Amino acid sequence: MESAARIRAGAAAGAAGAAVAWALAFAPLAAAGPDAGEASGADFGAAPPAVLARLPARGPGPAALAFPFAPPPEVRAVAPGAQPAFWADGRSCSTGCRAPGAVLGWPVRPFHRQHALRAGLNERRLANYHIGIDIQARDGTAVYAVQPGVARVLASSGVDARVQVGRFIYWHIVPSVATGQYVVPYRTVVGRVLPTAGHLHLSEIVGGRYLNPLRPGGRILAPWRDTAAPQIAAPQFRAGGVVLVRAFDPQSYRVRTTYVTPVLAPAALAYRVVGPSGRAVTGLRWALRGSQHLLGRPPGRLYTRGARGGGWGCFMGHPICRPNWNYRLAGGLAPPLPRLRSGVYRLIVYAWDWAGNVSARDARFGVG
Ligand SMILES: [Zn+2]
Repeated sequence: MESAARIRAGAAAGAAGAAVAWALAFAPLAAAGPDAGEASGADFGAAPPAVLARLPARGPGPAALAFPFAPPPEVRAVAPGAQPAFWADGRSCSTGCRAPGAVLGWPVRPFHRQHALRAGLNERRLANYHIGIDIQARDGTAVYAVQPGVARVLASSGVDARVQVGRFIYWHIVPSVATGQYVVPYRTVVGRVLPTAGHLHLSEIVGGRYLNPLRPGGRILAPWRDTAAPQIAAPQFRAGGVVLVRAFDPQSYRVRTTYVTPVLAPAALAYRVVGPSGRAVTGLRWALRGSQHLLGRPPGRLYTRGARGGGWGCFMGHPICRPNWNYRLAGGLAPPLPRLRSGVYRLIVYAWDWAGNVSARDARFGVG
């Protein structure tokens, strides 16, 4: 069997290509996005000068500064269909399950243009996993419902002030409706984004379960596209078949409000081990599968110590918030690497983003 001493991670490829990848991997932040000129939480150019002054005048763009690490040249794209979609697990509401009566759009103006995301489902939180998604929006932005229904003010004050209409909970808003009031999608203002929140948290809940609001066949937020595939750092081999890996999901749609749209945590992570003969010696082992909320699993089983997101305080005070998403790829929610005969093996790390883009990275290791 393997041990820490006997597993030798393959030599990392030279850093020669790193600078090139770093330069090519992101386009500069658009000077004027599709929302420019609109009075919305996604417009450009209205950030206080003091904040903008804290961004460097030259060097890597703001999006790159938000990356936890430079995009490694070893990360490769995976052809569509070559690996299963992370949401294709057959569980109820992993796909489909569209909210009845909901109307496609976004809960902030402009309703039918894309908005930026600052957090996805299952990101690390103090005691749990994030129970929805965060939509970047300026403080005071008017929030509308996407599904009709009767409002329920779940909390009227404090940072967790929130209103539920139908399946959706609109979080961190000063409510503008009363419990029992009928809400018309895109017409009734349900509330306004709280001072210092800088975002609207949106949860979708059915029977006490938090769904992935971006799931295919069930997503109401539209239009929404993300063409930037996840990035994967070199996996770290540990004793007992444990493997740690850092990963993140850059987004192709970014804006600047009081901060720059950050990277997200990957939607899913998995590994496979390929033997000396080139045959797979394990199936696809899921370390994280964002088709469902990971309620009840201790976050320490998935995230390593030191893993963190941007967090409210970080976004509040800084134009750039850089997370550190460090996972237990093997030996966390996924089983540890199996016992192996001596030989040279290949660990393939896969990462998915919320749009279904898949990246892979290979790491050779010896057992002997
Ligand atoms: Zn949130």
